[in-house]
Amino acid sequence: MFRSLTLRLTLWYALIFAISSSAMLFVAYLMLTRSTQQRIEQLLLSEAAELKGLYHARGIEKIGSEFVREAEISGTHRIFYRLLSSDGRELAASDLRAWKDVGFSQRAIDSLATRDSAFESLPVSGQRHEVRVVYVQAGENAVLQIGYLPEDEERFVEDYRRVSTAVILAGLIFSGSLGWFMARRALSGVERVTEAAISISRGDVRRRVAVSNNGDEIDRLAMAFNTMLDRIDTLITNLKEVTSNVAHDLRSPLTRIRGIAETTLSGEETIAAYREMVGTVVEESDRLVGIINTMLQIAEIESGVARMAITEVDLARLVRDAYEVFHPVAEDKGIALKIAVPATPLVVAGDSARLQRVVANLLDNAVKWTRPGGAILLSAQEAPSQARLSVVDTGIGIPERDLPHIFDRFYRGDRSRSTPGNGLGLSLAQAFVRVHRGTITAESSPGKGSTFTVLLPRPSSLPTPDMTKR
Ligand code: ADP
Repeated sequence: MFRSLTLRLTLWYALIFAISSSAMLFVAYLMLTRSTQQRIEQLLLSEAAELKGLYHARGIEKIGSEFVREAEISGTHRIFYRLLSSDGRELAASDLRAWKDVGFSQRAIDSLATRDSAFESLPVSGQRHEVRVVYVQAGENAVLQIGYLPEDEERFVEDYRRVSTAVILAGLIFSGSLGWFMARRALSGVERVTEAAISISRGDVRRRVAVSNNGDEIDRLAMAFNTMLDRIDTLITNLKEVTSNVAHDLRSPLTRIRGIAETTLSGEETIAAYREMVGTVVEESDRLVGIINTMLQIAEIESGVARMAITEVDLARLVRDAYEVFHPVAEDKGIALKIAVPATPLVVAGDSARLQRVVANLLDNAVKWTRPGGAILLSAQEAPSQARLSVVDTGIGIPERDLPHIFDRFYRGDRSRSTPGNGLGLSLAQAFVRVHRGTITAESSPGKGSTFTVLLPRPSSLPTPDMTKR
């Protein structure tokens, strides 16, 4: 329970309140007692000054009766007056019945040699409070002693103490509840995220955290959490698709190979027929190996384990080389392949073999999907801080619904079923372009042709030549 953040925050709130309010009340208490004491001393001093004047003017007889009268007015149990000789003998006094044991301090009397007045607090038997006493030199060998019992003032201070304690206790309860309420409110969002996470971990993978849209930290956490879940969801869906596609694409050639093997076992075919069958087995096996190799290459590149051989690659030259390779193939099919490249080198830092593969895959597709009589333009040109490679064909184009998926692994357009291919060509090209921090995009008008554009970063943002990983 003590690990709960709500409880800990509540305790902190309450503790801070208790400390700060106690400190404030304590300072107020000190000020109160100090000012009360000062007031009492002031009162005693002015009383003493008055009586001293009277003593000087009228002598000891008069002062004795004044002591009695004054004490009676204020209450004989609250105040007493005495005139003492320097060695402490009582010369005159008010009614001292309520002050039986009250004595005097010889030290205080002696100290009057150097100052005008001296104060002390004396205990009185039968009283809870001490009496505050002032000594003033009234004349030669005559010291005026006035004692005052600050009962009312002390009671007031005591009341203050009691009220303060009650205030602190009530404040503790109030601040504790307020703290609990606020902490719960603040942390309710965390609770929401936790609940969602628990229910997702129990299998409810579609569950998302409710966002309250007030833009606070918890909301941002919830949104980040939901985005992360969406991303994981997409990855899992992709993984499932890829797995089922892999299974499907590997199963078809394997089934064919098995079929041929069965025929070989049971049949009594001619040698020529067997040769043909073995030829098919080799072809299917090559297809399988091709799929597996391409998948491995994509996986290696995407996971960053593939070693890149980064050098300065002249794209103009790369385009010319590709032209040399593909020109005969295009010509055979009656397609006009043209290139447009700058006369000067167009250098990027990259892995030459992999960039060649990108161009080859795009050209291969263009040739495959362009009818005889069509044309293909392969070009390389400089763009602001980038190099642009593009393959434009006048082929059959890509239907709108296929366009967003052609870079997905194993995705093949409907019309591609009868055409050789495994749906990995563009995925591989995309993986290779991305590892160069470039982009690859496709535009197409069905029936008119397609354009594939590769943008690669140039000098300032180039990967360093010793780059071995993505
Ligand atoms: P594959 O060519 O092996 O089927 P790709 O990944 O290279 O796989 O291409 C995926 C799909 O994109 C193809 O099946 C085809 O439908 C479509 N496609 C690619 N390039 C072109 C193009 N130049 N013209 C028309 N369709 C294309």
